[in-house]
Amino acid sequence: MKILLVDDSPSATLVMSARLRRFCFDVVTAADGLAAVDAFVAHAPDLVLMDLEMPGINGLQATQRIRAEEVRRGWSWTPIIFLTASDRDDNLVTAIDAGADDFIPKSVAEPVLLAKMKAMNRVAALRRSLHAANARLQRLAELDGLTGLANRRSLDARAAEQWRLAQQASQPLGVIMFDIDHFKRYNDLAGHLGGDDCLRQVAAAIGAEARRQPGALAARYGGEEFIVVAPGLGAAALAALGRRVVDAVFALALPHPGNPPSARVTVSAGGASSAGGDANVGALIERADRALYAAKSGGRNRYIAAE
Ligand code: GH3
Ligand code: MG
Ligand code: MG
Ligand code: MG
Repeated sequence: MKILLVDDSPSATLVMSARLRRFCFDVVTAADGLAAVDAFVAHAPDLVLMDLEMPGINGLQATQRIRAEEVRRGWSWTPIIFLTASDRDDNLVTAIDAGADDFIPKSVAEPVLLAKMKAMNRVAALRRSLHAANARLQRLAELDGLTGLANRRSLDARAAEQWRLAQQASQPLGVIMFDIDHFKRYNDLAGHLGGDDCLRQVAAAIGAEARRQPGALAARYGGEEFIVVAPGLGAAALAALGRRVVDAVFALALPHPGNPPSARVTVSAGGASSAGGDANVGALIERADRALYAAKSGGRNRYIAAE
């Protein structure tokens, strides 16, 4: 366990760090409140032992700043124990209110010190695993369960963000909508589970092409419809990407007797690149969607660019 020890008194620091090292803990030290915040960010300790009275910003203020850094960086909660000269009850109340977890008088007996360190280490470990589990859940909540591509919810958020960035940088933003051709018939012929398998394979092909395009995001838009958002792509580059995806799906050569003339699974695609005319990302997607319908009525298995 790595402990950040904060104390303005060199002799107190020496005594306490020697005790902690005897327990085989890693110790880093800071001599005032500001140095404590810097050391916290630099070392990401498992536990902070914080002197209450220090010149400059005191232990309470340093603790509040450390809590703010944790929030800003998305870090999990690190236990902070105050070191006090006395063991008055009002010290404990002030400490907890300021975001500390406990306080120890500096004169604490060695076994008590060790016991508290062990308990805090346990708390820190639990909090870390909870934090990791939350991060995992957060990632899962952004994925489509069937295809593993980004889901609609995360697409909406990220497309809006890409739109904002593109506007800011005066760069084009490209959007391509894809729809599997005659997929209802595919389900009718292959069954719903067969349909699901087809969706997974088509999604993988779309995702693989999107990954070759720096910054591009592929998502399942809904049902058998997919979308690729491609920052920086003007009409020509977007068309090239769209055609690569259409060709990649064709090259999967998945049999689909209900989809003449190729009798393979194919997708139709419509693309639109923003060139200042769209009011928002929704309007851009709508233009891509209209182009997609032109691709459908034009014979399917093709890419059509929006006007
Ligand atoms: P078009 O070429 O004009 O796009 O025809 P289509 O049959 O693909 O279009 P339509 O929108 O009528 O049908 C889409 C079908 O996609 C209907 C629906 O059952 C199927 N579908 C949507 N989501 C899923 C899914 O998660 N799994 C499976 N197996 N099928 C799905
Ligand atoms: Mg002091
Ligand atoms: Mg559809
Ligand atoms: Mg379809």
